[in-house]
Formats: sequence, C-alpha cells, structure tokens
Amino acid sequence: MTNVLISGASVAGPALAYWLHRYGVDVTVVEKSSAIRGGGYPIDVRGSAVDVVERMGVLPELREHHIDTRRITAIDGRGGTVAAFSPGALTGGQAGRDLELPRGDLTSVLYGKTRDDVEYVFGDSIASVTQHDDRVDVTFERGAPRSFDYVVGADGLHSNTRRLVFGPEAEFSHYLGYCFAGFTAPNTGGWSHEAILQNVPGKLAAVYAVGDQPWVHALLAFATTSPSREAVAGTFAGLGGPTPDLLAALSEADDVYFDTVSQIRMPGWVRGRVALVGDAAYAPSFLTGQGTSLALSGAYVLAGELAKGTLPAYEKTLRDHVTRNQGLVSGGTAMVPGTRTQLWMRNQAFKLLPLLARTKLAGRSERRAATSLALPTYA
Ligand SMILES: Cc1cc2nc3c(=O)[nH]c(=O)nc-3n(C[C@H](O)[C@H](O)[C@H](O)COP(=O)(O)OP(=O)(O)OC[C@H]3O[C@@H](n4cnc5c(N)ncnc54)[C@H](O)[C@@H]3O)c2cc1C
Repeated sequence: MTNVLISGASVAGPALAYWLHRYGVDVTVVEKSSAIRGGGYPIDVRGSAVDVVERMGVLPELREHHIDTRRITAIDGRGGTVAAFSPGALTGGQAGRDLELPRGDLTSVLYGKTRDDVEYVFGDSIASVTQHDDRVDVTFERGAPRSFDYVVGADGLHSNTRRLVFGPEAEFSHYLGYCFAGFTAPNTGGWSHEAILQNVPGKLAAVYAVGDQPWVHALLAFATTSPSREAVAGTFAGLGGPTPDLLAALSEADDVYFDTVSQIRMPGWVRGRVALVGDAAYAPSFLTGQGTSLALSGAYVLAGELAKGTLPAYEKTLRDHVTRNQGLVSGGTAMVPGTRTQLWMRNQAFKLLPLLARTKLAGRSERRAATSLALPTYA
C-alpha cells in the first residue's frame, strides 16, 4: 500500500488526508501544534471548493458553522460612513451556496472526518527529508525516523517542508506592501453579523463581528516590514471610529499575531516525491479571500493525481486556477488603497456596489476566478 506523510493539519492537510485515504492510500499527518487549533478568524469556501466539500459529504455540517455576515461598512478616518453593502456584492459570492466560517471550525470538521482512518501525530515536525528513487526517508524533531512513498507539505505560508526541499522562503515569498496585526478585541460597538473597514491611505483598521459575540476579530494593516505593538499604536493614533478601542484592546491582547501580507509564487510545486499544497505552495494572501478555497481544491487535485501515479498533472490541472486567484490582487487592492487617489477611486466603486449588486457585474472577476476550476473526476 502506498504511504504518504503530510506535514500540517489545518485545511489542506486534513482535506488531502481524506481524499488519499479514500483512494486506498495509508496516510500519516504530522502537526507541530499539540492539538487541532479551533476558533480563529473567518475564512471563505467559494466556487469550485464548495464542490470539493460537497463531494466529501461535509457540506451540511459546514453549513451549521456558517457565519452569515450581512453587511460590510466602509468608513473614513473620522468614522463617517462611506458606503455599506452586502459581502456578496464585493466577492461575487453565491448566497446560499458559498460558506464563511471560523478557520478552526473547518479544521475541526475535516479532522473529525479523518481522525479514525488517518494517523495524526501532534507536537512534532519534520527535521530532514532525503529522497531516493523508491522512497523518502524522513527524520522528525521528536519521533523516530520513518520512510514514506511520498511527502506533502501542507504547512502554510512559512512552510517547513518547502524550506527543507525547495529552498528558502525568500525565494518564493512576494511581499505585497503591508504587514498586519490580528487579535481579538471586546465588541464595544455592539456590532452584529458585520464587518467594518476603516481606511486612510495605506492603512486599514478592520473589525469583524462573528454573529453576536461579545468580542470581534480586529486586523490593523499598514505599510511596514517590521510590525510591533508600538509601530501599530503610532501608525493608527489619531483615527476615529472603532480604532481607539482597538488600540486599547491591542495593548492588552494576549493573542496578537503579526505577519506580512504576501503571496507564495513558485515555478513548480513538485520535486521528486515531495509536493506542496495550499498556502505552502500558492498562498494568495488574505486580501483575495481565496486561500482556503485554493487549499481545498488543491488537496482534491493533488490526491487524485498522486493516487493515479500522475503527480506532474497536479500542476497542469491547477496552475491556471491558482494564477487567476492570485491575480485578484494585481490591480491594486480594494482592502488597503495606498494613496489618496486610489482610496477615492475605491470609495466611488464601493458606493456603486449596492446598485451593481443587482446586476451580474458586482464581484465578477472574483466569481470567475473562484469558479475557474472544473473539478476532474477521479475513480
Ligand atoms: C488574518 C487572516 C485572515 C484570513 N482571511 C481569509 C479569508 O477571509 N478567506 C480565506 O479563504 N482565507 C483567509 N485567510 C487565509 C487562510 O487562512 C489560508 O489560506 C488557509 O488557512 C490555508 O490553509 P493551509 O492548510 O494551506 O495552511 P494553514 O492554515 O496556514 O495551516 C498550516 C498548518 O501547518 C502547521 N505547521 C506549520 N509548520 C509546521 C511544521 N514545521 N510541522 C508541522 N506542522 C506545521 C500549522 O500549525 C498549521 O496547522 C486568512 C489568513 C489570515 C492570516
């Protein structure tokens, strides 16, 4: 029986494990965290990826976790409303079909679907990978060395597998001009089922209220390469609206994380018997809202091709879909316009969204990108 080691148990890892097991492959997943991480920020499952979770039989269960965000409000530096619209008007999402749920809820459902059939090893990480013609020898930080037929890195934006087998992150990571601080903050505005986007040139303060929870997800993004609490506080000082409350929460938050807004772009996702999937191979950045969907669709295609013994076809089938979705940020981003002119133009477009939402024009390129993969059928 073919055996495969997957590094990472978030979205791409468990989804890949599910499909490989279904094709009769023996699967081990190694995850560096001590357990599956629940909760987390909201993510989207759209377009072709909805077909993937439907084929997995988890669509009804995922729908129970659907967040149902009803409104996005764009505000200016002082907190005045610029425009308000439905999320679908921006993303081209299909109401009633697409899903939005906490990342950890998706992971928990995928883990629950695979835990009885797949070996999960928590609290460990790959230390070295040595490829041979007929196998891959792997050593671990903690566990004993083992051999596998294939190894797959599903270990995210800062993939360990990619570094070990393909090269340093700097070769593949494309900085999109921003860093962000993400954390949870008290829901001081009584926000419910909604997101607030506050922009001044080059800065975004976002509030994401999941349902009617007493807390919100906060995200502060701005142009820097080295974010810190002090840099964030200095950069966003003086803004009105929700930002003073967010800065107060930031100074006390114990779950704050900083990262760059970047994409992973690689000439190839397969090297010998090692492949990459999801953010590790083609992170599109959260600005596109398509990272999770690419991880799910990528896992589906990779599993099908690997099980058929046609691994190179994984890239051929998926490349165009990835390029289209990564391209959603190429025209300048709607989330963090960099200059006054770009912000003014973005705001005019936002003001038109409620009108456009009644036509097929709203979110057309996003919808086309999300649905651009016709899922192959694998036996
Ligand atoms: C703030 C923020 C907002 C986002 N918003 C959205 C959104 O609205 N819509 C959307 O679709 N996407 C969004 N994303 C992106 C989305 O989270 C990712 O695209 C998606 O989770 C990719 O899944 P993945 O399984 O490839 O990688 P990840 O979810 O990054 O998972 C990688 C896994 O590998 C594990 N790991 C890491 N290193 C090792 C190691 N050395 N050994 C073993 N395991 C390891 C990690 O612990 C983790 O479990 C957002 C991301 C962020 C940060």
